[in-house]
Amino acid sequence: MENPHALVLPFPAQGHVIPCMELSHCLIDHGFKITFMNTDSIHARVMAALPKMGGVHGQIRLVSIPDGMAPGEDRSQPEKLYDCFLRVMRVHLEEFIRKRNESDHDKITCLIADGCMGWAVEVAVKMGIRGVAFWTLPMSFCAYVFHVPKLIEDGIIDDNGFPTKQQMIKLSPTMPALNTSHLIWLCLPDHISKPSIFRYLNKCTQAAKSADWHLCNSFYDIEPSAFELVPKILPIGPLSVGRRLGLLEGNFWLEDSSCLSWLDEQPAHSVIYIAFGSYTIFNQRQFHELALGLELSNRSFLWVVRPNLTDGSSDAYPDGFEARVANRGRIIGWSPQQKVLAHPSIACFLTHCGWNSTMEGLSNGVPFLCWPYFADQFQNQTYISHVWKVGLELKHNSSGIITREEIKGKLDELVGDNVIRARSLELQQIAQKNVTEGGASFKNFNNFIEAIKLEKC
Ligand code: UDP
Repeated sequence: MENPHALVLPFPAQGHVIPCMELSHCLIDHGFKITFMNTDSIHARVMAALPKMGGVHGQIRLVSIPDGMAPGEDRSQPEKLYDCFLRVMRVHLEEFIRKRNESDHDKITCLIADGCMGWAVEVAVKMGIRGVAFWTLPMSFCAYVFHVPKLIEDGIIDDNGFPTKQQMIKLSPTMPALNTSHLIWLCLPDHISKPSIFRYLNKCTQAAKSADWHLCNSFYDIEPSAFELVPKILPIGPLSVGRRLGLLEGNFWLEDSSCLSWLDEQPAHSVIYIAFGSYTIFNQRQFHELALGLELSNRSFLWVVRPNLTDGSSDAYPDGFEARVANRGRIIGWSPQQKVLAHPSIACFLTHCGWNSTMEGLSNGVPFLCWPYFADQFQNQTYISHVWKVGLELKHNSSGIITREEIKGKLDELVGDNVIRARSLELQQIAQKNVTEGGASFKNFNNFIEAIKLEKC
């Protein structure tokens, strides 16, 4: 009897490829075969960023299909890209599965589509294979997108996702209140069309409803009310395969692992880790202020400055900054983040509150200093600082800047806060318990595996 063969399809963004890759490794541990499908342009980035040596991807078959746009075309405007997914990529996906399944062996038995590629579940249904939706975002996010029809029916938002008036809403009495201007599809950079994101998300959610299984990289204890609102979504997190050595992670940038030996030389709980994921962009003024805040803090730090972190030139640090902090600061282009967060020298995590970063910080008991940039990150900040109480928020001044004094002050406050540290360690225990034998996420994942294997027989 052949093992199940899953085709895993992430949304083409770093914060989606990594958790889909993690899920793939977990499935391989249970005897699955995995074909991991990126768009051609993302596939090229992942291949280019693979370390020259190592990186066990032999068990994962990496493939790609066109997303429907021309190579090199600007993919930053979602209207056109999403339209291409729905018209062109969909056909390529169907074609890929058909060809693969013409053969007598190694047939694809299920499609695991990122929730943000939920339209692909319709392809699975059409091709007669199992469809699974994997939500790489917080359950609080899923709860809102699943309740869009109700929000429209109740007159809270219109057909384009815009609020009919500004108000605080709660999907359930025990969920934190949300200002309607902070609905996820509205918290986006100015150049992005909110209605097109809203319509695409809505399309994905409605299509994903026909999935046989819905999985989410979260755990019940941290968002119970949200899970109760959409009970068919099963928490299987926190996934933390990235702490294992040598596994393919799907990075878009070449990881600089030399920072790990630098961390080995630092005292316990002494280093501030600063990373803003793959999308966040700073203007030059704010970037300078952050650098000067780190300098003013007088603490050791490991700062990830992606090549495209600023809207200007990435190496435009304040005059003399690099020399002044050279003995206590390390700046790199892309880190092995999960290994960094698991390192005993880390004191806290200055983060944009992306969902993966949030789960990774929680899994490692690291307190957060929150600096959200877009989408669900504002809601994640609320959970971190007000619900779970494992971090603090940075505040903008009247000119919209987070000043160096604010950064230094909050770092001092956070590092010295034993209550937040104790609470972070408590949540780390709960997170670990979830994914070890007998834990709720562990059971959900195993039930899913068993069911898929049985269905295969
Ligand atoms: N990440 C990493 N190295 C870095 C910065 C980020 O490996 O230097 C990883 C991080 O561990 C996480 C992902 O990139 O898994 C970022 O996802 P997240 O949801 O936090 O943010 P996004 O990039 O989607 O804004």
